[in-house]
Amino acid sequence: MLNVAVIGSGTMGNGIAHVFAQHGFPVALIDINQAALDKALGTIGKNLDRQLAKGTLTADEKAATLGRLTTYTSIADGVREARLVVEAATENIDLKLKIFRDLDQHAPPEAILASNTSSISITQIAAVTQRPTQVIGMHFMNPVPVMQLVEVIRGYATSDAVTVQVMDLARQLSKTPVEVNDYPGFVANRILMPMINEAIYTLFEGVAGVAEIDTVMKLGMAHPMGPLQLADFIGLDVCLAILRVLHEGLGNPKYAPCPLLVNMVAAGRLGVKSGEGFYSWGHGTKELVLAERFA
Ligand code: NAD
Repeated sequence: MLNVAVIGSGTMGNGIAHVFAQHGFPVALIDINQAALDKALGTIGKNLDRQLAKGTLTADEKAATLGRLTTYTSIADGVREARLVVEAATENIDLKLKIFRDLDQHAPPEAILASNTSSISITQIAAVTQRPTQVIGMHFMNPVPVMQLVEVIRGYATSDAVTVQVMDLARQLSKTPVEVNDYPGFVANRILMPMINEAIYTLFEGVAGVAEIDTVMKLGMAHPMGPLQLADFIGLDVCLAILRVLHEGLGNPKYAPCPLLVNMVAAGRLGVKSGEGFYSWGHGTKELVLAERFA
């Protein structure tokens, strides 16, 4: 099994490290923040316990999975042996460009460098390395251990061989890879974010309330949750950042973020992570309570 390094141990990084380790890959999990690494190991342990309780994993498999994980606070140390690096650090272009320059310097020359970015150009990331043919998007969905899809994004220079290898690696994780090209938002967010934005416009223009919009989309379209609830889960700041990438990158006014979304983010109403968005999340994430403003 090839050595994998995962950069960033937040929401996505811990899930990505979990699935690779569970499927037999030795994983170096790297973060600048030791507390984030400790928290990630705790989360992985809890998620493995949940699989154990469901009977989808044995106690031996849990121990073996944890045994394949090593943590590092330095990229140089963590990627020395890696054949595949999956970067899942904070969504910030300057940070990602710096990380990829460091990866290019410290990872073995044959290593594939993948990014889990939701919206940043793979082509732009690849261009700061000396190996653009080996740079690719490997976009996992949240929560990683549960969601089936991996969007595999080919940058302008990504080679056929690297694409085939990454598609195959995703299958080895029991995921379904889908190959797409590198344009703003790729496929998942190109379609999802305008739907969320339109739901917010529908609220903003007074067509219907939060509960009504989400109920129409849940019951009428058989979506597991409504677009406003989903926006609260993703984080309204994240939705706004992705819409800005679509708006700027595609130059079409139809992607302009709704002013209500812009205002909510400016006011710090970010959804689940801040305790309030379209819903109030102080009551536990299972119970849907409309935020006071929308009640
Ligand atoms: P997060 O904020 O939960 O975690 C980011 C982690 O990166 C933090 O632990 C932080 O300490 C670490 N980090 C920051 N700078 C670093 C550096 N220089 N070296 C190593 N680690 C560093 O973020 P997240 O939600 O896990 O998102 C990570 C990536 O995944 C982003 O590119 C995001 O767009 C993408 N993504 C997120 C989701 C989602 O639903 N959250 C879904 C798909 C893709």
